[in-house]
Amino acid sequence: MIPGSFAYHRPSSLKDAVALLADLGDGARAIAGGHSLIPMMKLRLATPDHLVDLAGVPDLKSIGADGADIVIGAMVTQHELIHSDLLSAKIPILRETSLVIADPQVRYLGTLGGNVANGDPGNDMPAVMLCLGATYQVTGKGGERRLAAREFYQGAYFTALEPGEILTAIRIPVPADGHGYAYQKLKRKIGDYATAAAAVVLVLNGGGDVGSCAIGLTNVAETPLFAEEAAKILTGSKLDAATVKKAVAAAEAITSPATDSRGPAQYRTKMAGVMLTRALARAAQRARGE
Ligand SMILES: Cc1cc2nc3c(=O)[nH]c(=O)nc-3n(C[C@H](O)[C@H](O)[C@H](O)COP(=O)(O)OP(=O)(O)OC[C@H]3O[C@@H](n4cnc5c(N)ncnc54)[C@H](O)[C@@H]3O)c2cc1C
Repeated sequence: MIPGSFAYHRPSSLKDAVALLADLGDGARAIAGGHSLIPMMKLRLATPDHLVDLAGVPDLKSIGADGADIVIGAMVTQHELIHSDLLSAKIPILRETSLVIADPQVRYLGTLGGNVANGDPGNDMPAVMLCLGATYQVTGKGGERRLAAREFYQGAYFTALEPGEILTAIRIPVPADGHGYAYQKLKRKIGDYATAAAAVVLVLNGGGDVGSCAIGLTNVAETPLFAEEAAKILTGSKLDAATVKKAVAAAEAITSPATDSRGPAQYRTKMAGVMLTRALARAAQRARGE
């Protein structure tokens, strides 16, 4: 399929990019790696009249520490997330998740900003961002705002981004040293979106009890899910089988997946539970240094 015609713009500053999006109005879309937007355009599910390419905007490509946070520029690619020593040391779940997104060709161009701003419930990074308590920095004509990832996703392809706003960076509080983490994803084949996936970040205290826990679920509702009740059930426990079962049931209860080519809704809910059970076990192993 061939996309409809559009005008291409390549601003060289954030200010110009914001001004272009504001001036061009509803018919304009930002484009980053293009690996979600261009397929949508080819299917004519998106028909922008103008594309504003963020590739020429400086300062959207860095990964760095800022106090207790790590700040990742929106145009950092999934490939760069995999190869960042800082991220591998401090927030290794980002590497684990990036490695199960698509294939190397997509990851060379696909950006973290595009993945989280897209609003596709099938994207893997949003659930991880809920789990990590990330904040999104966005800039529009009215200036800069910071939005909690946990409040960002409102429906399929519907987010708290206002028209014309550009996501510039993702700010993530660095999890405690020695935290356990895991991203478990069921997919039909390499390069596929998740049938269901679960992200877990947890900290065990000295006695081996769960000191804190956060859980995100991918592609089992119109938005990524933050499984707060399930995490509460686990907190203070030793992750014994009965408590894990109760927490998994609580996580499954908030899912509402569609029946589609990845399976019936009930199956996908159950697979979210299986992925969560595995992610909890792997995260706990890592927290114990096993
Ligand atoms: C074959 C294939 C398999 C894939 N499999 C997976 C998978 O398993 N898991 C997964 O998570 N993803 C998958 N993807 C999607 C891929 O990860 C995309 O690269 C990513 O979702 C979007 O990033 P992008 O930089 O390509 O964004 P684009 O496609 O350029 O943009 C996506 C959307 O976000 C908006 N946008 C982009 N950047 C910004 C910004 N900085 N500020 C505001 N709005 C912005 C655009 O306007 C557009 O609406 C797959 C893609 C392909 C082609």
